[in-house]
Amino acid sequence: MITYQGLNINTKKQRLNEIPVRYVKGVGPARAETLKRLEIETVEDLLYHFPRRYEDRSKFKPISQVKIGEYGTVKGEILTLGGHRIGKGKSIFRVKVGDETGAIYAVWFNQPYMKNWFKSGDKIILYGKVEIYKDVQITAPEFEIITEEGKETIHTGRIVPIYPLTEGLSNRGLRSIMKNALDKYLDEVDEALPSEIRARHKLLDLKQAIGNLHFPEAEALRQAAYERVVFDEFFILQLALALRKTKIKEADGGIAHKVGGELLGSFKMLIPFRLTDAQRKAIEDIEKDMASPKPMNRLLEGDVGSGKTIVAAYALVLTVQNGYQGALMVPTEILARQHFNNLNGLLRPLGINIVLLTNAVIGESREEASRMVEDGTANIIVGTHALIQEGVKFKNLGLAVIDEQHKFGVDQRSSLKEKGSNPDVLFMTATPIPRTLAMTLYGDLDLSVLDQMPEGRIPPKAYWVGEERRQGIYKFIAQEVSAGRQAFIVYPIIEKKKDKGLPARGGSASGGKAATDMYEKFKREIFPKFKVGLVHGRLEDSEKERVMDDFKDGKVQILVSTTIIEVGIDNPNVSVMLIENPERFGLSQLHQLRGRIGRGNQRSYCILLSETESEQAKKRLKALISTTSGFNIAEEDLQIRGPGEFFGIRQHGLPELRYANLVSDVRQLEAARKEAFNLINCDGDLSLPNHKQLKEIIKRKFSEKIPSP
Ligand code: ADP
Ligand code: MG
Repeated sequence: MITYQGLNINTKKQRLNEIPVRYVKGVGPARAETLKRLEIETVEDLLYHFPRRYEDRSKFKPISQVKIGEYGTVKGEILTLGGHRIGKGKSIFRVKVGDETGAIYAVWFNQPYMKNWFKSGDKIILYGKVEIYKDVQITAPEFEIITEEGKETIHTGRIVPIYPLTEGLSNRGLRSIMKNALDKYLDEVDEALPSEIRARHKLLDLKQAIGNLHFPEAEALRQAAYERVVFDEFFILQLALALRKTKIKEADGGIAHKVGGELLGSFKMLIPFRLTDAQRKAIEDIEKDMASPKPMNRLLEGDVGSGKTIVAAYALVLTVQNGYQGALMVPTEILARQHFNNLNGLLRPLGINIVLLTNAVIGESREEASRMVEDGTANIIVGTHALIQEGVKFKNLGLAVIDEQHKFGVDQRSSLKEKGSNPDVLFMTATPIPRTLAMTLYGDLDLSVLDQMPEGRIPPKAYWVGEERRQGIYKFIAQEVSAGRQAFIVYPIIEKKKDKGLPARGGSASGGKAATDMYEKFKREIFPKFKVGLVHGRLEDSEKERVMDDFKDGKVQILVSTTIIEVGIDNPNVSVMLIENPERFGLSQLHQLRGRIGRGNQRSYCILLSETESEQAKKRLKALISTTSGFNIAEEDLQIRGPGEFFGIRQHGLPELRYANLVSDVRQLEAARKEAFNLINCDGDLSLPNHKQLKEIIKRKFSEKIPSP
């Protein structure tokens, strides 16, 4: 058989992402360099460089009806033109344009070369702000000469795109290039989205969408075009997540834990309270996952105080019963020790060996701990980042639990998993993530939600008060402490001098109170009768521990602190939290702080003392006092801050969305997610011929960058 290789090469259509942008008419080597600064290197990049906004220059006004001071579009014929000097090095050039109703001047200063653009009798469109000096005029208008009646205009006389630009590139220039690119290449844009999906969601076809995003034929079409591009962006991301999820699920060599057994039975008997239905359900989910030979990859999401620890403990006992080790990694020393103590109290009676491994554990104890992890004497290992250090070797890690997982970087999270061979993994977060974010961030995880608080909990009451109440609040704190309760007083900064100019949120950087100064004041002047403690991030670890222990034991009654207590501190006896300068905290952070109280069965109070004038800050404070639901708070926070800033999203590994908006495009996200997961259900590795292109796009866009938990 003879094959004509040459033929193939000639007929092979080159892809738009392979054609350098300099092949577009109007783009020379210099322009190509300029475009590079906008990350435009190929024809595809150019076509996907969408306008930042639009100007409607489509409605022509008879010249006699333009309004002084407003922007307007007129169409007419050039009647006269001419320029002259108006002083040293200054000149004016005027074009008189008339229609049946009147005349108007287009005026340029110090641009004598403008005269080369025009000649008498030209048909022209002008757009700009109408002014009146001697005559009615538009200074330096956008203009476009109509060479052929009926020919499409791109700068005026339509809805006109306004692009993100860079130095050396004008909107006018970019519009011309874009028009050339569309004329030549739009027809070659490939449609990757299966037609059934397009039909189901009434999406524009891709060519039409791209065309209309640049040069909209009508506002409705522009909107539809935007929706199409947003859908695509979400769809590709969700497809990647769905692929990843099936890949994890299909990985071989996971551990099939045996559920039930004596140890687990005894553990259940030891649980000192009735589990909430939500906890039961989460445990059921986890048991199923752990029993399966596929590795578990589950996120346990639950507001502060919803009782995640006991669920984690259950899973840890399950793996220990099966002869494996369990690891619990948390973001701070304090939290590690607290979990260590709690688990010890709960599990030591069962003969389970628990080891603490943090960077504060040093010298001989560190060596011993490492040895126990390595030889398997340690059944459960609780620790911080120290767990994932290179020297740490597990004998047989069966389950990795990562608490407050959003505090860890993407790599750190996967390194713990890599300490074992396909262990089950349970992520936990007390930061209720709005659904839309959860879907994008954790779209490849299974989800269990603790949406119920343990019985008898009384949610803390929150108040927002001003300076005039300060003395009253101190009195109230004294009253509570005298009655045997304890109090937190929280500050955004540690120390005044050093922290000057720290980023303040919604308040002035200077001013604001600091933990160390106020600690002295409380100790000496305000609460001399009580035991006041201080804890912040700059203390030695041992000192932090001592203070936290004393607070837990009631030896410290009033704890002055920074946000270091935000994560995980569990002292049910605390009944008041005073937060000073709360305007400097984010909403979710305030909610986390508040979660440190109301952990017992008595009434508790969270008092926000703020005189803020910032509207944004007021919004946050109002949101906080109006709801106790972490999910509502998170939604609100996302609305206020926008996805970019929500908990420092980058750390989550959120892929950047170029077109879609997680706040306003929720509907598209949900639709795209459903379709993507559906598609992967039917064609698990995108091997069907009509999915080939999708597969290529995913490969190209994500390679290995698919967001991983
Ligand atoms: P978080 O979800 O914030 O990690 P914890 O697991 O620390 O919450 O639980 C908060 C407190 O509630 C702990 O003191 C814990 O012992 C207690 N707790 C957990 N579950 C229950 C329950 N079902 N009934 C009563 N108390 C519970
Ligand atoms: Mg917890």
